[in-house]
Amino acid sequence: MHRRSFLFSALLVPLALASGAAHAADGKLKVVVSFSILGDIVKNVGGERVVVTTLVGPDGDAHVFEPTPADARAVAAADLVFVNGLGFEGWMDRLIKASGYSGPLVVASDGVPSRTMDEDGRTVTDPHAWQDLGNGRRYVENIAAALAAADPAAASAYGATASAYEAALAAKDQWVRDELAGVPAERRKIITSHDAFGYFGAAYGVTFLAPVGVSTEDEPSAAGMARLIRQMKKEGVRVVFFENMTNPKLIETLAREAGARVGGTLYADALSPPGGPADTYLKMFDNNLPQLKAAMLGM
Ligand SMILES: [Zn+2]
Repeated sequence: MHRRSFLFSALLVPLALASGAAHAADGKLKVVVSFSILGDIVKNVGGERVVVTTLVGPDGDAHVFEPTPADARAVAAADLVFVNGLGFEGWMDRLIKASGYSGPLVVASDGVPSRTMDEDGRTVTDPHAWQDLGNGRRYVENIAAALAAADPAAASAYGATASAYEAALAAKDQWVRDELAGVPAERRKIITSHDAFGYFGAAYGVTFLAPVGVSTEDEPSAAGMARLIRQMKKEGVRVVFFENMTNPKLIETLAREAGARVGGTLYADALSPPGGPADTYLKMFDNNLPQLKAAMLGM
């Protein structure tokens, strides 16, 4: 799928002239973050000292995002820009060029041991590292270091908020492990729309299967669907899950053809809107885990 619009060439000149970030008048850092899950993590570390603009919002799909002129203006005015990295935001380099932004681009996943997957003979990097809370802690450390470098006077404050938040992530990580402890090994199989849970699976001992690869840009092949249906029947996988930010049609088809039921909606690549069941990074696990556990235990 090609989404390179003429938007960028049209924007290049005016935004280049308008660029040149400065701290907001109130002394707060103006921060642009690529997607909602990372936006929540940055808010938790930055607290009152940062003003966060998130480009791909709740229920949005960052794999197929098309930036607008307003997004380019937000980037142009930023002190710092945060991305997940690992190939997640394929549109960000173009957006930054178009905006004229020349400040730091902070890759939150820096230093995380990345996973690769084989997709039809190609080796692809899996970007969904945040689904392992251990990796989330690395994100927090990278974010705290970047905020401290941009705003050295508040370095110790960022360190303190980062430590407190890391402790909450560590506690959530332990909770996930405790919750899954009673699930027998042979039942630990889950079907989702696309391969968004590889890091979760590796960290917590669950096998995830999906008709679509690590990017929602890919189309499922008929052969791939047929193979997955055969595998589900053979291995007795009876539950499939929607993802909050992808089209439910594929999963409805899969459920019908494999004789499975839909177990609910997992938050994969985006949070829910505020007030919804997964409006923070931590609450995403609170939403997903009981549904996964119930599906695996056949309840
Ligand atoms: Zn994804």
